[in-house]
Amino acid sequence: MKPFFIIGNWKLNGNTIFVKNYINKIKNFLNKKKLNYCKISIAPSYTYLYLSNIYLNNTKIALTAQNVDINLSGSFTGEISINMLKDIGVKYVIIGHSERRIFHKETNEYISKKFHIIKSNDLIPILCIGETKLEKDMNQTKDICAKQIDVILNDQGVQAFNNTIIAYEPIWAIGSGKSANPIEVQNIHKFIRDYIAQKDLNISKNIIIQYGGSINENNIDMFIKQKDINGFLIGKASLTAENFISIVKKAEKIISSIH
Ligand code: PEP
Repeated sequence: MKPFFIIGNWKLNGNTIFVKNYINKIKNFLNKKKLNYCKISIAPSYTYLYLSNIYLNNTKIALTAQNVDINLSGSFTGEISINMLKDIGVKYVIIGHSERRIFHKETNEYISKKFHIIKSNDLIPILCIGETKLEKDMNQTKDICAKQIDVILNDQGVQAFNNTIIAYEPIWAIGSGKSANPIEVQNIHKFIRDYIAQKDLNISKNIIIQYGGSINENNIDMFIKQKDINGFLIGKASLTAENFISIVKKAEKIISSIH
């Protein structure tokens, strides 16, 4: 069985004290409670990855980066390469987040290059996809998701999706306090899995499809119960260790009641 993978994306938040306290709290929690179904990861900003890696030493908490450059080295002022991330213990890299698509004008083609550089250096991309409210209202969700996946499928083939994560994040649900309908999310996740399955059944079965968009401890039940929802990418509710831990605790309980 795939672990239910919960990632906290801290975005542009935190400082050294925050990092220390947060990780200590999660470590205390994990010392008391063994996770049977969930896997967890945190995504601090670049500046705190190194420190986080030191604090996370000897734990099962994986380290995720929020971004990476498409180049390995050279004259690219202000950028961070995949080798640099690897060097400090990063395992996963978020790409295609709507905030980067919107505020940094990242295109599907550019995101495909990031996907390639991550895969070819043996780290795991978390590819965020999802539609705007207008696209949802125009019934275009599946087309948009397919288009965001297609660029990578066409550039790199279905094999590139082996051992990767797709995070379906409807843009209108992110940070809005209003999560999507879990049944509708299941429907989209199934569409995404079937879309990959048309090219390779095994890869489609193994791919982890997370949901992201205003998840909190009070709304996770129905999401977790859906067959094709394999985890969460969480923004706001991951900004306190207490909330993040509550979500993980509750997820463990719900999953154990299903099995
Ligand atoms: C996100 O930004 O990926 C996200 C899911 O944020 P939030 O949980 O705050 O909606």
